[in-house]
Amino acid sequence: MKASQFHFATTRETPADAEIASHQLMLRSGMIRKLTSGIYTWSPLGWRVLRKVEAIVREEMDRAGYLEMLMPAVQPAELWRETGRWDDFGDQLLKLTDRAGREYVFGPTHEEVITDLARNELRSYKQLPVTFYQIQTKFRDEIRPRFGVMRAREFLMKDAYSFHIDTTSLEETYREMYAVYSRIFERAGLKFRAVRADSGAIGGSASHEFHVLAESGEDLIAFSTGSDFAANVELAEAPKPQEPRPEPGEEMRLVDTPDAHTIEELVTQFDLPVEKTVKTLVVQAAADRDHDFVALLVRGDHSLNELKATRLDAVASPLRFATEDEIRDAIGAGPGSLGPVNLPIPCIADFSVGVMADFGAGANTDDKHYFGINWERDVELPPLADLRNVVDGDASPDGAGEIRLARGIEVGHIFQLGNKYSTALNAVVLGEDGKSHPLEMGCYGIGVSRIVAAAIEQNHDERGICWPEPLAPFQVAILPMNARKSYRAREAAEALYRELLDAGVEVLLDDRDLRPGVMFNDMELIGIPHRVVIGERGLDAGTLEYRLRTAEKNEDLPLENAARTIL
Ligand code: ATP
Ligand code: MG
Ligand code: MG
Ligand code: MG
Repeated sequence: MKASQFHFATTRETPADAEIASHQLMLRSGMIRKLTSGIYTWSPLGWRVLRKVEAIVREEMDRAGYLEMLMPAVQPAELWRETGRWDDFGDQLLKLTDRAGREYVFGPTHEEVITDLARNELRSYKQLPVTFYQIQTKFRDEIRPRFGVMRAREFLMKDAYSFHIDTTSLEETYREMYAVYSRIFERAGLKFRAVRADSGAIGGSASHEFHVLAESGEDLIAFSTGSDFAANVELAEAPKPQEPRPEPGEEMRLVDTPDAHTIEELVTQFDLPVEKTVKTLVVQAAADRDHDFVALLVRGDHSLNELKATRLDAVASPLRFATEDEIRDAIGAGPGSLGPVNLPIPCIADFSVGVMADFGAGANTDDKHYFGINWERDVELPPLADLRNVVDGDASPDGAGEIRLARGIEVGHIFQLGNKYSTALNAVVLGEDGKSHPLEMGCYGIGVSRIVAAAIEQNHDERGICWPEPLAPFQVAILPMNARKSYRAREAAEALYRELLDAGVEVLLDDRDLRPGVMFNDMELIGIPHRVVIGERGLDAGTLEYRLRTAEKNEDLPLENAARTIL
């Protein structure tokens, strides 16, 4: 590819609304452009990387004998009603209506569609086991789309579904898939870990997640130094079913108080009765743009005096997560405005937080009042160990070794679903015993577009992206110096370019005739692993200047056989 024919859209400024490195660098390098909240265009440059990920995933899935197919993105509501997920999936489900008033969803996942296919086409145990997969655009109306394509609303997923006559066969494919996933992430050049996970809204029994390790990861994972034990800490921390909830309040005030970070500050600011017992305290954080909430709830008899040291941005006993329903009921928010509650997410800057307290009926007064407060969250989050019960160095639950904690980005998730969907949709096959059996089923997702961002989180420096070789948009960049004036540099660059092309290398010849500094900056920002600089001085000495993106220094390489030396 010649740079003059390619579309470059690099910028030097760090976009204001991009909080983490991958989001900033994807925007700065021009890989993606935001169309609207959580929806992105992949530029020719970004698309090359996305296709690299897709190709690795596809190759490994094909190698394992799984069958690629393509299902519709738009799915009829009836199917989702049949499984109950029309209601159960929650607000992430994008619902559509056609001109005749028929309802649809834009698929956030495809268990319904594939099980519908299975019930129509799978008849006998002899057709099993079988695994189908697709690489396709999904839509989830995420409560807080953020970090660019890391948590988008529209994103690219590889989703696979396996069907079995019994659980033994399901377990076998599940183990095999675990190995396939490990190979995919290894091939992509990523540092990752597989951990035990909650099966969440998808349902089922056994489940593992694959996490790319990175400080900006939203998930906290714990693993043992002495065994294979590894789990998503969420597993232990999932909010418990509900205690009694607050009564709806009579009064709610919303005011801006950009500097209240502790309950004590609130007490002072609002002249609250410190000796009174708090029945309910809801701390609610909302992103500026949308109606996004995360929340905590204090219950029981604590006076404000007792609570006043509590930082509203920290999670400390007796605070705990409140559920959507509790918060919704407590504040009377409209439907669709609340989602999974999860405060201790790193890298969140633009937050405002509201607090409501119900002081219950007092002796002289019967004031049950609510108030709300907004402030910009500008504080450091507490360290990991404060957020959760497990700490680094704890004994591993299996007794072997110590616990280590790390941040992870969920890039893959595999589930043993059992017969949840086949029972709901009546997908049965004849077994060897001549009887009809509900299909046993597994499902397996990979966040193809998220992997691109995760790879950058793990591989960047202050100058830009440092692609792992298998994901790089181009392997080699050739930079002729002073190309307009120097016929020799132009000629030598062109010759090397041809030679590399012929060898099947993805090479970018920067023939834009820009100042050297600009070319260097662009190539470093974009993260091309190998850079070759060709100039008059080197040519006199019969050399070119070579640099690995991650290296500190240039090397002079003999011009002769340069293509072979570089590869
Ligand atoms: P998360 O916990 O990050 O919300 P999830 O558990 O809801 O993800 P799954 O239903 O397990 O996601 O989907 C399979 C994979 O799809 C995930 O492991 C992740 O890599 C990817 N994925 C899910 N949601 C998004 C999103 N909003 N943007 C990009 N990729 C996503
Ligand atoms: Mg999710
Ligand atoms: Mg998850
Ligand atoms: Mg998941």
